[in-house]
Amino acid sequence: MTKIIIGNQKMYMDKEDVLSFVNDIKSYDKGSVPVILCPTFVYLDYYKDVCKVGAQNVSINDNGSYTGEVSASQLSSLGINYCIVGHSERRNFQKETDDEINKKIKKLLEKDIVPILCVGEKKEERDNNLTEIIIKKELEQDLKDITRDNIDKIIIAYEPIWAIGTGLTPTNSEIDETITFIKNYLKTIYNDVNVTVLYGGSVSEKNVDELNSIASVDGYLIGGASTKFASLSYIIDSQK
Ligand code: PEP
Repeated sequence: MTKIIIGNQKMYMDKEDVLSFVNDIKSYDKGSVPVILCPTFVYLDYYKDVCKVGAQNVSINDNGSYTGEVSASQLSSLGINYCIVGHSERRNFQKETDDEINKKIKKLLEKDIVPILCVGEKKEERDNNLTEIIIKKELEQDLKDITRDNIDKIIIAYEPIWAIGTGLTPTNSEIDETITFIKNYLKTIYNDVNVTVLYGGSVSEKNVDELNSIASVDGYLIGGASTKFASLSYIIDSQK
């Protein structure tokens, strides 16, 4: 099954790198593989004509006196249809709380922007069999008051924190178990809904063929490998 490919390009790449990357993507045939790339705010416009585009963050506030912030309304006015929320780097470095993540999701939905919500456990939490408890708590808080009408407009990314940027990944059966847990949990809460759930954490051209065999995984959220055209195109080609 073709999986969705979402690239989180984080704060990598200067303008020259972006221009060269965009040029490569422009002349590459993605076929029917859904590809969404999420560069930093300053580069959003460069990607608009070559693929679907997402932001990496959004303000909890509407337009106003919030220096350095970017609102859902501003993203929408640029034609941005996706936005990552709750990435573990923001939870960690910016001390983003579940309450703020919940507010961001609501602001995005008001503007018809698809939130890509990241959840996942730390290594010691997995080692202590706490993965499902941690993820359930994140989902409960991040999706507070999200209605049945809106839940399938959200993409969930299961990203074990210890797998991000480390080259480590859970086993295929661990990924399958956790993604199936997320899907079943949401089905129980939301009356049999089918939500798109991605895997993220050190996905690259080296392991994608093996990961592709996990049927429960609807796609990948890819960090480092999404900034290298050769790696990204290998991953996209593996879906054709
Ligand atoms: C990410 O930051 O969302 C991510 C999955 O990073 P990487 O692919 O580099 O592990």
